[in-house]
Amino acid sequence: MRGDGTIDPIILAAGASDLGFPKALARFGGRTALEIAVENCAALEAPVVVLGSDAERVREFVPPGARVVVNANWRAGQMSSLQAALAEIAPGADFMLYPVDYPLLTRPVIEQLAAAFRARLTGQAIAIPKCKNRGGHPVIFASELRAEFEQSQTAREIVYRDAARVRVVPVATDAIWRDLDSPAAYRARLREYEQRICFLKSAGVPPSRVPQGQQNPARHACPERSRRVSAGPGTHLRMRVPQGRRSIARHVSAGRAVSNKQESPARTVRLSSYLDEVRAGLPVTPGQALRLIQCPDRDLPELLATAIRLKEQFKPGVITYSRKVFLPLTNLCRDYCGYCIFRRDPGQPGAHTMTPDEVLRVAREGERLGCREALFSLGDKPELIFPEMRAALRRLGYKSTLHYLEAMCELVLRETGLIPHANPGLMSPQWLRRLRAVSPSVGLMLETTSDKLMKLAAHRGAPDKVPSLRLAVIEAAGRQAIPFTTGILVGIGETPRDRVDSLFAIAEMHRRYGHIQEVIVQNFRVKAEIPMSRRAEPTMGVMLRTIAVARLILRNMNVQAPPNLSAPNYHELLSAGINDWGGVSPLTPDYINPERPWPHLRQLEERTRAAGFALRQRLPVYPEFLDHVKRAGGIAFEKTRAAADSEGYARSTSSAERLPANQEPPANQVPPLEGAIPSEGARPSRGTPALPNATVPSAASRFGSSGIQPITANRQPRTVNREP
Ligand code: SF4
Repeated sequence: MRGDGTIDPIILAAGASDLGFPKALARFGGRTALEIAVENCAALEAPVVVLGSDAERVREFVPPGARVVVNANWRAGQMSSLQAALAEIAPGADFMLYPVDYPLLTRPVIEQLAAAFRARLTGQAIAIPKCKNRGGHPVIFASELRAEFEQSQTAREIVYRDAARVRVVPVATDAIWRDLDSPAAYRARLREYEQRICFLKSAGVPPSRVPQGQQNPARHACPERSRRVSAGPGTHLRMRVPQGRRSIARHVSAGRAVSNKQESPARTVRLSSYLDEVRAGLPVTPGQALRLIQCPDRDLPELLATAIRLKEQFKPGVITYSRKVFLPLTNLCRDYCGYCIFRRDPGQPGAHTMTPDEVLRVAREGERLGCREALFSLGDKPELIFPEMRAALRRLGYKSTLHYLEAMCELVLRETGLIPHANPGLMSPQWLRRLRAVSPSVGLMLETTSDKLMKLAAHRGAPDKVPSLRLAVIEAAGRQAIPFTTGILVGIGETPRDRVDSLFAIAEMHRRYGHIQEVIVQNFRVKAEIPMSRRAEPTMGVMLRTIAVARLILRNMNVQAPPNLSAPNYHELLSAGINDWGGVSPLTPDYINPERPWPHLRQLEERTRAAGFALRQRLPVYPEFLDHVKRAGGIAFEKTRAAADSEGYARSTSSAERLPANQEPPANQVPPLEGAIPSEGARPSRGTPALPNATVPSAASRFGSSGIQPITANRQPRTVNREP
């Protein structure tokens, strides 16, 4: 039976989305994917839009004239949505199944498909588009097949049941199979869409009327050349790069690169329109992030307000920190980073490898002061170049620094209530597996994805800082679902584009494996003794922009910035969307930046509260990653569970509750290690000198000409008593 020639489009927009917002609302040049789909069907009957997940949110965006069906049972799968839609369609009408997540489809393709269906041969009842030997969407069905939808599990099953009734319609675009299944796919579709707009503008063609055969018009509008691009030592990718551009931003992640070549068409777009899209739930693209991270002062307040908004959607009202002891197991290191004051050669003043007794003594004292984290930070494989370290390890009874670290983590885990967090540099997958049994979370700063820094002072002497090697460790941890801390360094010679690339590389790792529990945005601080002593430090303005863009890129990931590296005005970092202060110790110094004392916990709490947030102590493992530890089991899980409260934060102890008001440890406890400089909160004898009360200017007055909106009313400029 032939229908009456009418075709009712069914736009399927009910399914769940991995984008962080409904796929129907993914934006392309100001239009949503749903609006594009409805417009493409303008020559057919009024479409039926099937909503399900997030129905109320999507409903607001349904264009006038479309019919709406809400499938309350959308979790049951696509067929339940189809049946809900078919109930809305006249019995004799043919219908088109059009998933909403094919945003590059155009009206001419839809009309070509409809025309081919209407001209089908006798016996044919289905029209399916095909490009490069691959079928795609949408698909048109004749009305007589309706009964089969009640007896089949999927529409695909109906299509493949009988080849004789299928009319294959060759089309000139691969848009029929380019969907929005992941954030990476969305970014790719955005780039392709921008290329198309670039072409259409130059050709004077309305976007909805892309001529057949010109579905990949970027080649006409933006001449490209093929170019070999480094993606880490030994790895090169061949990419298409627009003519005339000297560099591309690349997103190095397991051999994949993403170019920012669409940046120029978007140059005219105002930054606030990007921020509108981000607030509406859309992901920021690399090109947008690059513009935002270099935004002028006039756009900074809106950038910060957007970052804060995302942070509050993610973790409302709370800022966390981890009360820790810092255990520099050894400061011997085979690398020579240009910004490092921590490392020593054997025999240098301050060179030290902690003994098991020292480790245990510091850990026990930390426990008494309410600490829950034992941060093991150490040089990278010093035994590879120093015979002295090999001898020291032999005396201690271990084959390597990692063997010794493993034993010390286990010692702390068994003998105290502290939870180890190991930070030993590069590790093999096998070592990650071993360490996770005694250190529930593990860390390695990515620092940067830029290979250029291997030729500059920062990493010239540091073979363990090759970006691809560090990404490989992060990926290996992901494959083992180890809660992982990483981050970037700001101001060590990288460019804003490098920062954006690094953040996207981290985001991509987390998208694949879901294991990155925390991203640190850490600023370089000058020290007189380091090779980079003459390099300028990043300003607070650079930090605010970088953290805010990190929040936009990473969205629902924990973003941390160390308060001591931005003292005295560290509270201003709260304006940029961090949700964590990282590890703060009432006992031990920051051995990496010993001239930068931790803030008093009491002061940290006051400033956090003044900004409108509650300060909450967490474990080294974030609450949402405790399940990862549980799956691994063993003593690491048992001890972590014992240290956690019902919500997964640090279980409070009487000493922990007392400490913020009276932070000083008792006298005659835990002398600092040789060469160490105690922290502000660590020792009463070496605190920062008392300062008179000082008015702290707001970030608005210092970093933006038009002023930053306060997070809450009580974040206005105020008087802060800086305690000794
Ligand atoms: S930053 Fe780390 S790897 Fe680099 S020299 Fe210092 S301790 Fe070694």
